[in-house]
Amino acid sequence: MSSVEEYRTKCTFCSVQDDIILKRKSTEAAFFGKDSLFKLYYDEKSDRGLCPRGNFTLELLHSPYRLRNAELFGESCTVEKAIEGSVSELKRIIEKENNIAILISGNHTLEEAYLARELSEALNTNLLGLFPFEDEALLSVKNNFSFKDLNEGDLVLTVGDVFSLSPTLAKPILDARNKKRGNRLVSLDVIKSRVSLFAEHFNVKMGYMSYFLSVLLNYLEGKIRLKPDEIVAGISSTRIKDLAEILVNAENGQILFSNIYGHFTNPFSIVGRLSRISEITENRFAVIPIGQNSLGVGRIIGDFNNKKIMDALKEKKIEGLIILGGNPFEFIPGFEEIFDYLNFVMSTDFFKGSNESECIIPSAFSFEKRGTLISLEEKIVNLGESISPVGEAVSDGDFISSLLLKLKGSRAKAKVSIPKVLPFSDSSDNKKPSSLTNKKFPFAVVGIGLPFHHHRGEITRKVKWNEDKKEPYVYINPATVEKFSLKDKVKIETPNGSFVFTVENCGDLPFNIPENIIAVPIHFPQSMKLFVADSDSDGIISPGFEKARIVK
Ligand code: SF4
Repeated sequence: MSSVEEYRTKCTFCSVQDDIILKRKSTEAAFFGKDSLFKLYYDEKSDRGLCPRGNFTLELLHSPYRLRNAELFGESCTVEKAIEGSVSELKRIIEKENNIAILISGNHTLEEAYLARELSEALNTNLLGLFPFEDEALLSVKNNFSFKDLNEGDLVLTVGDVFSLSPTLAKPILDARNKKRGNRLVSLDVIKSRVSLFAEHFNVKMGYMSYFLSVLLNYLEGKIRLKPDEIVAGISSTRIKDLAEILVNAENGQILFSNIYGHFTNPFSIVGRLSRISEITENRFAVIPIGQNSLGVGRIIGDFNNKKIMDALKEKKIEGLIILGGNPFEFIPGFEEIFDYLNFVMSTDFFKGSNESECIIPSAFSFEKRGTLISLEEKIVNLGESISPVGEAVSDGDFISSLLLKLKGSRAKAKVSIPKVLPFSDSSDNKKPSSLTNKKFPFAVVGIGLPFHHHRGEITRKVKWNEDKKEPYVYINPATVEKFSLKDKVKIETPNGSFVFTVENCGDLPFNIPENIIAVPIHFPQSMKLFVADSDSDGIISPGFEKARIVK
């Protein structure tokens, strides 16, 4: 055996699924140090490298915050004991149909998603949903995307901040733009972003992206004419015509959509319209989910159930909840109240939180398990080699199999079918949005992502590199700070909630924040409270901007 063990796997964080290599040097000496025995490498065949989040992988291996044992009603125990102790609770709850819901994260393998579907059948429920909730809006798209074509395309149009949400995509996108004179990078967003620094930027009025795209689509389809002095959602008719021309003239163009909580209103409609625009302008279209395998997991679940689940939780219509791969206190808005009335909550998670479910199972990261994923290129890819999980941690696949065995008395036989892209249902109409800022709430808060934090920050807030910024913060234009004599802490209030945030230096961001906008990095649960927790008119739980005021 070689003196170096090598594990080739995928980055655990996002749907770009960059390759990582973990190498462990064999040693005969006892090892007592704090440093990991492992070293992290990226595959040199991929010239994208790894983003800051990818580099945190090594720390996750031996993080002191990892859950190493199961817990049942606050007592530490083995996974087996925790499952045994939960079965009687579950059996009582499932006597009634649809009395329990399961939420599974997009960071699971296809095999685990099939098992989750089998678990939902065994638990007598069809309430099986996907988180991050934003990714549900993307399940009606079959990606038309390849990394090779992205490198060589003459046009990349991004909608959303692709560079912050999926940082290693910046390299092929900028390579494509710089490859030949005339190649273009265009960004369409409601606020400037890391992409817009390098792009021809179209700043669409906040909350109007879906409406703007409906106008662009109607123009492209020849259904409307644009008057010379017309302004649509902040964009002049001349620029809309330019954009239409750019799209029509591209020979090898790619449209990309990325979303995050608090950013785009009606993301499902946006996706539907972008999909149609790509068809008629003959460009490729792809969505970039937050979850590593949300496209795979969501299609196996095979339905849009998040609204039904959230409604059932709010209306107190169910007694039990199972969360696979996360802490519900972190990602379900207002979960403290929901938790109080639920009879039994079981979750699998990586870290110990301050609030916890009745039963917690320590879970394995993707580099600690095997299985398959659907890639952005719509290929089924293998996770590769896995290293042993820490402590008692188990993959959710193993956990579900053990739970099914205890519930049914027989081994799991997950029924496998081809994961289906969900059909587009009627999306919202083309009316101009009306909920804008007003005298009472003169500012707009918008959710933004940062390259060194993944999504709600459940994982990335735990790494040492991010430890200095523990409190939720916002970015406010320095002129606004001066005008209102704001101190270093401000209370931001919206119709949905309020919180006291630290005012962060805008110089940390490479783009300007307009004076009437408050940019909220959404990697804190407190930031989520500013946004409406309900589903939108398309039935998707992924709010856009919110009106706000600053309370001194
Ligand atoms: S972009 Fe970053 S987080 Fe996403 S897969 Fe690549 S290294 Fe991981």
